[in-house]
Amino acid sequence: MSEVKIALREIPTATVDAVEYTHLDYYSDVKPVWCPGCGDYPVLAALTSALAELALPPEDVALVSGIGCSSRIPAYTKVYGFHGVHGRALPIATGLKLARPELTVLVAGGDGDGFSIGGNHFLHACRRNVDMTYIIMDNQVYGMTKGQASPTTDPHWTGSQLTPEGSGLNPFRLLGLAVSAEANYIARTFSGDPVHLAETLIEAINHPGFSVVQILSPCVTFRPEQRNWKDMVRPMRHEATSDRLTAGFRINDEDGFDMGLIYKSSRQVYQCEHNNKMDVSSLGEEFTV
Ligand code: SF4
Ligand code: MG
Repeated sequence: MSEVKIALREIPTATVDAVEYTHLDYYSDVKPVWCPGCGDYPVLAALTSALAELALPPEDVALVSGIGCSSRIPAYTKVYGFHGVHGRALPIATGLKLARPELTVLVAGGDGDGFSIGGNHFLHACRRNVDMTYIIMDNQVYGMTKGQASPTTDPHWTGSQLTPEGSGLNPFRLLGLAVSAEANYIARTFSGDPVHLAETLIEAINHPGFSVVQILSPCVTFRPEQRNWKDMVRPMRHEATSDRLTAGFRINDEDGFDMGLIYKSSRQVYQCEHNNKMDVSSLGEEFTV
């Protein structure tokens, strides 16, 4: 087993000429429509704090999402946003990062969006290892469509009229998929622990390549029992590893409530060789009627 010893990029520190930001600089004027108590509120707060800590100018950041409650998040920030179609946030973000490598590209969404219709894209995003960060707000339910079982729902959950006796289907282990498909940074955190959440996002954004952050983010409306998650989460029992086999065994050996960094690698990041030669202006003409 090899333990992680990878130098992160330097977090920008304030200089005489540097602009200092606070989390307020990243909020838009749009008021969130999430239910009171939704776990996605602390994610928004932690993300804005992380961007301020990283001193990233809002115009240098792009946040791409799919469809679902959590995918509304770009509208609530002042960074560039793209509210995409269902399950397609990752390919949109991949194209954006390859065309505009100077941007910090973040992707956000939920368990339904990302691991049902979007599951295939997740595997290939891990495999490609483009430098971006995927923020998964996992509440083990389709919240926006009023509470159906998702790919991460427990097989015995009987809260949906569509599956009154439970789906009987084993959930995906999201982070196990990420390890086997070779994401470069894999961590889990909890929306009820905003400090750990913000620190995890900072490290994930700083780490080169495709970073995956699973955030347990309760849906208090359709899964009210998830309020108990605050009593179930615990720190990760192991130091992070850069050995995929070890990470895979550990993920299969825990119940999904261990919080922290699981795996970190320095695998080569995919970049477009022709970035500086691309002229995309002609693409627009092709679609002009
Ligand atoms: Fe949050 Fe659930 Fe309400 Fe959606 S339905 S906003 S996930 S609490
Ligand atoms: Mg969900």
